[in-house]
Amino acid sequence: MIQHSTLHIGGQWVSPQAGGFIDVVNPATEQVIGRVPEATAADVDAAVAAARTAFDTGAWPGLPVDARIAAVQRIVAALEPRTEELVDVLVREIGSPVGGKGGMQVRMVPTLVDTLIGAARAFPWEEERKGPFGTSVVRQLPIGVVGAIVSWNGPLFLTMQKLVPALIAGCTVVLKPSPEAPLTVQALAECIAEAGLPPGTVNVLHGGTKAGAALSAHPGVDLVSFTGGAAAGRAIGRACGEQIKPCVLELGGKSAAVLLDDGDLDRLVPAVLGATFGNNGQQCYALSRVLAPRSRYAETVEAVGSAVSALRVGDPLDPETEIGPLISVAQRDRVLAMVERAVAEGARVVTGGGRPPGLPVGYYVRPTVLADVDHRAEIAQEEVFGPVVTVIPYDGEEHAITLANDSRYGLSGAVFGEDARRAAGTARRIRTGMVTVNGATTNWAAPFGGLKDSGLGREYGPEGLRMFLEPQSLHLTGN
Ligand code: NAD
Repeated sequence: MIQHSTLHIGGQWVSPQAGGFIDVVNPATEQVIGRVPEATAADVDAAVAAARTAFDTGAWPGLPVDARIAAVQRIVAALEPRTEELVDVLVREIGSPVGGKGGMQVRMVPTLVDTLIGAARAFPWEEERKGPFGTSVVRQLPIGVVGAIVSWNGPLFLTMQKLVPALIAGCTVVLKPSPEAPLTVQALAECIAEAGLPPGTVNVLHGGTKAGAALSAHPGVDLVSFTGGAAAGRAIGRACGEQIKPCVLELGGKSAAVLLDDGDLDRLVPAVLGATFGNNGQQCYALSRVLAPRSRYAETVEAVGSAVSALRVGDPLDPETEIGPLISVAQRDRVLAMVERAVAEGARVVTGGGRPPGLPVGYYVRPTVLADVDHRAEIAQEEVFGPVVTVIPYDGEEHAITLANDSRYGLSGAVFGEDARRAAGTARRIRTGMVTVNGATTNWAAPFGGLKDSGLGREYGPEGLRMFLEPQSLHLTGN
């Protein structure tokens, strides 16, 4: 049992102003494995005040970029010796398999941070612009106090992709991890404390919707950077709009993998397994709709079905496990109900459906492939956020593009075709923030984010850094 009793506010470990706690449940064992203090609105006020003071009168925003980068590197240096401990905590906290995304999302943090630092070093912090009336210097000012709110499916990784550019930009931060996965972030808070940033530069508090809403609506917060679902994203957007302050919203998706008539199933299948079934199916960029030409439909259903039915479901701490439990009983029941409704609407279960035999404890769902799905059906339109994929036939490439774009989401996608030029041409017509040709990948040097209900703004690369900056035009008259 991991017990914490303090929040990290103003460079101090402080007791919350009321006595509430959040219990952390291991989704594989259904046992409580940890406990963190729950912040109240008064704690949110204190954390924002500390971040405000650190930004308005502290040294941090005025430090040279290199000094801020060095501080970020000290945080990573404090994390690295704790890698194995963090992997263990994360796997027990969210159930992501240790041999898959559970281990990877901790081990890849130093490379992620190096890539983000690379973008910052190449960034045009000041540019001269000549105009008809003289020359101006375009400077980049830190936006101010950032409220960072993160989902549970990548507690450390998703936090770092906000925290690092925010800090390098010169912002101060109030970070609220999800109530399902606060333990990894508490360990990060300890590493931040060890790295010796000026007091109040990063403040960490725990809580759920109430604390998140209080943070987003706080007038002392200048920008909200959010990763989570569309419903919370909308609420945050409303709160920010009321105060005319920006928000970055990294939300969900319903992305398509389009198999062209010359596409190779040996490429599509591993891409779908990785994107859609990695992290137990709880990934925003899941390729949860496979679109196959009608002439190759049976073959595609068979290939995806047999690969998915071979996935090993079980204890996420076993290195052989490929699929662990979903995050909560509520999420498991939601996914099972969606599959049941899909079947009632006419979908055929190729493999999976229901709970796996022999695993009575834990929030497991059998990896599931559904065929003969109507493209307008709920299962083909709504994000499942579980180990479920639908395979849908199309008639001609135009139809494939229409179906791929027929979604309220616009996060990701993939096109598979052996004629790589043609496949890239098709990929260019997909209206999403990211699309891969013959694979499923992300690139931490290129922007990550979505269109439509998948969100606003971007993370990674210079585009991600810009979210934490405001340009100022310094007009140098008389030169
Ligand atoms: P969620 O929206 O329920 O919660 C996310 C975070 O927001 C949590 O910290 C939660 O406490 C907080 N929160 C909830 N309601 C809030 C409100 N009204 N105001 C402020 N904060 C609030 O989402 P979740 O279940 O934790 O995560 C799953 C969702 O996240 C999926 O839709 C997934 O696709 C999405 N996601 C997106 C990305 C991306 O980068 N695009 C990455 C990972 C996950």
